[in-house]
Amino acid sequence: MAAAAPRSVVPPNRTRRGGGIAAQDDKFEFETTEGVEPILSFDQMGIKDDLLRGIYGYGFEKPSAIQQRAVRPIIEGRDVIAQAQSGTGKTSMIALTVCQLVDTSTREVQALILSPTRELAAQTEKVILAIGSYINIQAHACIGGKSVGEDIRQLEYGVHVVSGTPGRVCDMIKRRTLRTRAIKLLVLDESDEMLSRGFKDQIYDVYRYLPPELQVCLISATLPHEILEMTSKFMTDPVKILVKRDELTLEGIKQFFVAVEREEWKFDTLCDLYDTLTITQAVIFCNTKRKVDWLTEKMRSNNFTVSSMHGDMPQKERDAIMGEFRDGTTRVLITTDVWARGLDVQQVSLVINYDLPNNRELYIHRIGRSGRFGRKGVAINFVKSDDIKILRDIEQYYSTQIDEMPMNVADLI
Ligand code: ADP
Ligand code: MG
Repeated sequence: MAAAAPRSVVPPNRTRRGGGIAAQDDKFEFETTEGVEPILSFDQMGIKDDLLRGIYGYGFEKPSAIQQRAVRPIIEGRDVIAQAQSGTGKTSMIALTVCQLVDTSTREVQALILSPTRELAAQTEKVILAIGSYINIQAHACIGGKSVGEDIRQLEYGVHVVSGTPGRVCDMIKRRTLRTRAIKLLVLDESDEMLSRGFKDQIYDVYRYLPPELQVCLISATLPHEILEMTSKFMTDPVKILVKRDELTLEGIKQFFVAVEREEWKFDTLCDLYDTLTITQAVIFCNTKRKVDWLTEKMRSNNFTVSSMHGDMPQKERDAIMGEFRDGTTRVLITTDVWARGLDVQQVSLVINYDLPNNRELYIHRIGRSGRFGRKGVAINFVKSDDIKILRDIEQYYSTQIDEMPMNVADLI
């Protein structure tokens, strides 16, 4: 008997997810460990039948390029470092491999996924629950800003997977509410961020409570050298699937700049673009929370409808704003880099860098909020005279092209 599951597991009324083509077409080049062969269908990956039903039911028909390469080694228990362009299905891959790896007959935490923001950790939990619905997976988002009592209740009840942010997860481990005994897999999504200065100590704090025979997976669109170099300390003979940096920008995302000369001109430029912003949905990035507040106020006092979100807001408010943006009730979101990584709202087709990001990685992540899974996207950078050299550096570093914004930019959305 062939191990492959019959196609009849596909529910007839499934929704299609892949809006575009880029992520499905096998045209990306990877630098992979020898022996990693792409597997072209989910059926051939050795995934359990009820999970396959969940995957197809969620609307996935065919694995993306990274899924074709990384799913198999992850479910075989290897340590894996997986890099792929933004919006090409990395986080979804975490969800589906975790579902494959946990044994749902015992209610113990077996997989721990850490993410840099609460919204991303919650999003990943939702995808796990959706894809894993037929295997009765129990997952819990263990994130700061939420009720500790609810964490305790959920964890005592027993879950298979925890998707969390490092601070709260560590807290729950130290209280012995989150028992680590049965954890066999640790995944760091946005792993370069998780291993960067701000998070590294917290990650280590969690790591030292985990069993020694731990499988570790690192996932990100950006994996700078200094991060790859430190992986030997906590990974064993990892399978690597990496993307050259000149392959990292997506063709589907057109990048432009507007020369504003002075800071004061940015505001008028944004107002002029407002109709373009609302064609679908747009995310506007500023570099500080204060600037987000200021710009939001200023837009509103000029009668533009905008929503905004940053890390100093109470979690309840963040949740409400996320909810409204996800369901399309709001269309223009002004935010900080709390929104730069991982968040998936398929309708976002325009990203504005009101301020240029502080590093090259963030640029890739920010513009990657548009153009999800092969959809079209546009990124517009506001550059003051002294910013031009930063933009040219980004352009060169990724071997990409950032042209002056054309008059008909709305036609590209
Ligand atoms: P990444 O983590 O690489 O940025 P995500 O996992 O967030 O990407 O996926 C981006 C979008 O693509 C999501 O809306 C997700 O549902 C969708 N997606 C992921 N994998 C597939 C697939 N195999 N087929 C169709 N859509 C997919
Ligand atoms: Mg992701």
